[in-house]
Amino acid sequence: MAILFMSTEAGDAEDYLPLLKGHLPDQDIRVWPGAVGDPADTEIAVIAVPEPGVLAGLPNLKAVLSLWAGVDSLLRDPTFPRHIPLARMVDPLLGVDMTHFAIHWVLHFHRGLHRYAGFQRKAEWQPVDYPEAAERRVGIMGLGVLGRDAALKLAALGFAVAGWDALPKSLDGVETFAGSDRLADFLGRTEILVVLLPLTPETQGIINAKTLAALPPGAFLISLARGGHIIDADLLATLDSGRLSMALLDAFRHEPLPADHPFWHHPGIIVTPHVASKTTPRTAAAEIAIDVRRLLAGDMPRHLVDVTRGY
Ligand code: NAP
Repeated sequence: MAILFMSTEAGDAEDYLPLLKGHLPDQDIRVWPGAVGDPADTEIAVIAVPEPGVLAGLPNLKAVLSLWAGVDSLLRDPTFPRHIPLARMVDPLLGVDMTHFAIHWVLHFHRGLHRYAGFQRKAEWQPVDYPEAAERRVGIMGLGVLGRDAALKLAALGFAVAGWDALPKSLDGVETFAGSDRLADFLGRTEILVVLLPLTPETQGIINAKTLAALPPGAFLISLARGGHIIDADLLATLDSGRLSMALLDAFRHEPLPADHPFWHHPGIIVTPHVASKTTPRTAAAEIAIDVRRLLAGDMPRHLVDVTRGY
């Protein structure tokens, strides 16, 4: 039985291999592509961004453990073995960083901080007024592991927070909406929208002309999960119309964002290069080791993905 570590991200193997070997000293851990050995030996694959098609060539694969929280790119590979249990990364540090990032940008737009760089360039002393936090309506799309944490902590800071997702949820101090028939109500009350949905066939393009028009005039968008949620042309048109004040975008359809993409130079858009949160090798390797031990004991890994729903 071998565990195969697979990532096309530079430096991942150097970071993870010693940590995984430290947690699982008795296991045969091999690194793709150099040290695969007999493909029939691999029973567990630990993957970040695998080369499409490689997993399909492992005949005795029993489980796939993803180092990433989002598994949309894996499931886009038509050769991905969808019958094999797939677990995604739920790492406590991932949520901490994501919530910090969400709070930073909510505060930034709430306090009008995006306006001061322009005032400074014109040597204008111009305080920007802002409502009380309790009157600032923040909305989180996706109350999963990441969205829930951000919603609770924004509520603890005193904002009027609501969340929207597929199934009804209850969260202390957060107004919740569920299902597509409540989406317009949720958007209609949301002045600062934070998107933390997984990318699935249902959520692809969910930030479009119609949903952006459902936000109150002057709203802000903070897109932290995947670029595929946004119809780029609709976002640009809504910003140009003045209906949306600003957008902070951390993830894009094509990454790195191509140099000629209009998002780079649009005055209403702040671009960050997919840095909202990242898997930390120290904590992620410990999470992977827990699931490897569960598999060795005949149990299922935690955080299983429902491949039919895509998350
Ligand atoms: P998660 O725990 O799987 O949560 C997903 C949430 O989205 C669930 O509450 C789910 O609702 C909801 N949802 C799914 N499909 C929906 C739909 N069609 N309509 C309404 N709600 C829907 O995921 P997570 O760990 O919070 O991560 C969310 C995403 O963040 C990841 O998929 C990844 O793309 C992204 N991410 C980005 C970064 C970055 O640095 N930018 C880092 C990590 C993760 P139900 O529970 O009701 O089904």
